[in-house]
Amino acid sequence: MYYWGDIMAFNFTFDIAALIVFAVLIILVASTKHIMDDTFKILYKLTAAAVLVPIFDICCGDSVRYEVGYVSTLVFAMLFFLAHTVVTFYFLSYVMAEVEMRQTRSAIYKFFIYLPLAICVVVILLTPWFNTIFSYSIEAGFVKGPLYPIVGIVPVFYFLWSLVYTIYRRHLLSRSFKTMIFFVLTLNFAAIFIEAVFTDIAIRNFIISVSAIIMFFFEMMGRAEIEEDTNIVGKEYLLEEGVRMINNKYPFSIILVKMSNFEALSDTFGNNNTTALAKNIASYIGNRFKLGRCFRISESTIAILNTDGDSGELTKQLYAELDNSWDVEGLDISCDILMTHIDFPDDIDDFDNIVAAIRYFAKMERSAGHINERIREKQVETAIERGLKNNSFEVYYQPIRDLDRDTFVTAEALVRLTDPELGPISPGEFIPIAENNGTIVAIGNFVLETVCKFISENDMEELGLHYIELNLSVIQCLQKDFIETVERIVGKYSIDPKYLCLEVTETASNYSPKVFTRNLAALGERGYALALDDFGTGYANIERMVTSDFRIVKFDKEMTQYSTGEERLQEVFEKMQNVIHSMDSMVVAEGVETKEQYEYLKSIGCDYIQGYYFSKPVPQEDFVEFVKENNRVG
Ligand code: C2E
Ligand code: MG
Ligand code: MG
Repeated sequence: MYYWGDIMAFNFTFDIAALIVFAVLIILVASTKHIMDDTFKILYKLTAAAVLVPIFDICCGDSVRYEVGYVSTLVFAMLFFLAHTVVTFYFLSYVMAEVEMRQTRSAIYKFFIYLPLAICVVVILLTPWFNTIFSYSIEAGFVKGPLYPIVGIVPVFYFLWSLVYTIYRRHLLSRSFKTMIFFVLTLNFAAIFIEAVFTDIAIRNFIISVSAIIMFFFEMMGRAEIEEDTNIVGKEYLLEEGVRMINNKYPFSIILVKMSNFEALSDTFGNNNTTALAKNIASYIGNRFKLGRCFRISESTIAILNTDGDSGELTKQLYAELDNSWDVEGLDISCDILMTHIDFPDDIDDFDNIVAAIRYFAKMERSAGHINERIREKQVETAIERGLKNNSFEVYYQPIRDLDRDTFVTAEALVRLTDPELGPISPGEFIPIAENNGTIVAIGNFVLETVCKFISENDMEELGLHYIELNLSVIQCLQKDFIETVERIVGKYSIDPKYLCLEVTETASNYSPKVFTRNLAALGERGYALALDDFGTGYANIERMVTSDFRIVKFDKEMTQYSTGEERLQEVFEKMQNVIHSMDSMVVAEGVETKEQYEYLKSIGCDYIQGYYFSKPVPQEDFVEFVKENNRVG
């Protein structure tokens, strides 16, 4: 027997407390402006249903107490159970909406979410006729019906589903969200437990209201504010939305708008006017789109999240509207607008790259189209992976001439990549990318192996070649097993290390100079010759030159230009050469393109030259042909 009983006054207090909590919540919500996205809408519905729970409870109680009548008591009791179930249903929907978008849910999935609710509703609605949930009479009060457990099981079922879902999707949910959900669930399970043990206490309504306020607080804390005057939202919210769409593989575009002459305008029209212009433009954009679709990236950059229609077309349209003269306090200021759009998944298919592209765009100065660099970088990354997988990297050789002997005694091995989609990609472009993502190690090993194979298959003496030069990346040199890898590859072809000269370049990147120096020294000890590449462009070269034992220093193209430059530059060139000679190193001048350069370098006693003047880098067979012919072999 289930009586509304004596402790009603006690439970009544809980209901009143719940209503007070809701009143606070309403004030809180009314005082701020939010974006009505999926999660927020669900939270509103959840709260609305949650408010009704104590209200119906009180009404039902009063209806009994004041003997208002059979029908009203019955209806309020039914509504109470309905509202209660609906709250838990929305709770599950809310948790799901944090990761999933409703558009992407399958019909069968939706069916299973709604099914328990539907059963519950039907069972409740049948109560007046079949006493399914309870029977009520003024004399006997409330008596549980045969299907009464359903109104208890379904809410528990939704809570349990939420719990399992949160655990299952834990990787896609933020830590704070999970903590909040676990906390709320614990509260509710505790309330259910208390009510099960102490059947005369009704604390659940109060706990539901507390849960709702916790959830609201949580949502509002994490939510970027909407700018009052422009209707634009902070970028954190773009990230949140973006992550959700990517997780759901839902196609979208981000349209980026930037006032590219912001700095220049500031100089000309003053900061206040320029800021006012930026605001005008922002509010134009903010009011043109739905609330919660435009995001503030920086003072001069705004992102628009577009999910419907052709973004290319929209970009063009918007550009025409914005790239105009704007009236700011009587001043006619013309704004240079820079726009681009990134399509997911066509242009970029992961989140980090989207963030990087946006950041890049926001930082970017005038020149348009640079956002495509980030996209291009991504494509090159794919091309590198493809190249490694399909073995399509190649090694070309560029002959280097000994000016003393007047023959080609060596060559620089240079890696080449031709991608089926992107065509030939220059190492100047893909090497830095490969260094960033670590694929340089595999590429470097491939080049070393190819060169070793070449040396082992050809008679170097007969060709007149002393050794082959190849480029080492700093990243390679910093690998733990670097020395062993080199030894293993060289050992595989039984090559004497004297046939190899390893070129390294200085970079200002923050690598560990100690490991680098130690590895170079280890190579030197094992008989490999070392060359310092790109001398004259890098950083701290002088120090490196002194601390490592370089047999060769390669003057960069830029330095080589000095040789045909004005007299003082020529002097620099000669003096540097003397310094290097005094340290018992030899000089290779790179990038020799003209006869004039060649003759000058020869006249000042430069040791070796490399450049298009003799040959571009060529495939192995052409290189062998070239040296055979020029060194008059065979
Ligand atoms: P680098 O090591 O300084 O190589 C010399 C670059 O100058 C080569 O460019 C070569 O083709 C170019 N060059 C040679 N003679 C002339 C000339 O007369 N005029 C002009 N304008 N250029 C000339 P490439 O092959 O495009 O390579 C660019 C850079 O990529 C290389 O500069 C090197 O730093 C890197 N690289 C190339 N292959 C490898 C490799 O196998 N491993 C690593 N780690 N880096 C490589
Ligand atoms: Mg080089
Ligand atoms: Mg170089």
